[in-house]
Amino acid sequence: MAQPYTLKKSLGQHFLHDENMCRKIVSEVTRKPGMQLLEIGPGGGAITKYLIEWQDVQYKAIEIDDEKVVYLTKTYPVLQGKIIQQDILKADAPFADRFSIVGNFPYNISSPILFKVLDWETQVDEVIGMFQKEVAQRVAAGPGSKDSGILSILIQAFFKVTYLFDVHENCFNPPPKVKSGVIRLENLGNPHDITDKRKFIILIKAAFNQRRKTLRNALKSTLPPEALIDPIMDKRAEQLSVTDFVRLHKQYQCQ
Ligand code: SAH
Repeated sequence: MAQPYTLKKSLGQHFLHDENMCRKIVSEVTRKPGMQLLEIGPGGGAITKYLIEWQDVQYKAIEIDDEKVVYLTKTYPVLQGKIIQQDILKADAPFADRFSIVGNFPYNISSPILFKVLDWETQVDEVIGMFQKEVAQRVAAGPGSKDSGILSILIQAFFKVTYLFDVHENCFNPPPKVKSGVIRLENLGNPHDITDKRKFIILIKAAFNQRRKTLRNALKSTLPPEALIDPIMDKRAEQLSVTDFVRLHKQYQCQ
């Protein structure tokens, strides 16, 4: 089928063309009257066209590709002034107060997008996001799982994560080589009362960067010497829960 635009592999442009799947993703967004909603990477408008039907929702999008921004505003005039043409990784929060996020995210920047969500955590109520399946599973993984990693702990410290469903390759044009999955993040309101996010991130990264080693080895240049005699240091990062990491973070100052 002829497209009125080009598809750019470098920007992760795999566009959804299965309308049932588009509607299924949109139906996962928790819709509240007056809410503010950001779509990341609207592309050809696969889910955008459903989202803008919601009269009681304030919609904005961030899309890096000017060709798609021109196409979208021409095809859906209501989008005039609502699409910010920018790299999401360089963007400021597009709303002054709370908002939700939805998107079929460019897979090459999955982790940076999740760090952006963490950055905006005090403002983000909910994320409905499609990722490469492995990334989605990693974010949702519990402690003790081999999939548990930096992003599982960091995201789960602030959000309840639910793996919603798989999305088959054939739902996209062109079909991606990897499998896809959609997850929901629900903001828990900083339940662990983490006050220094930056230091919490340093701790988690150091622990998982040498995930095969005991924490005593992995954290010896990150935590002070008295931390290293803590019995939990015999374990490996993937064996710890969010609560375990929060305790280490609060009890011992990162150096
Ligand atoms: N939501 C559409 C498109 C998904 S493809 C659909 O489901 O069909 C991913 C989209 O993200 C593309 O439109 C791509 O141009 C956009 N994109 C890629 N990198 C980006 C970035 N750094 N910032 C904002 N948008 C980006």
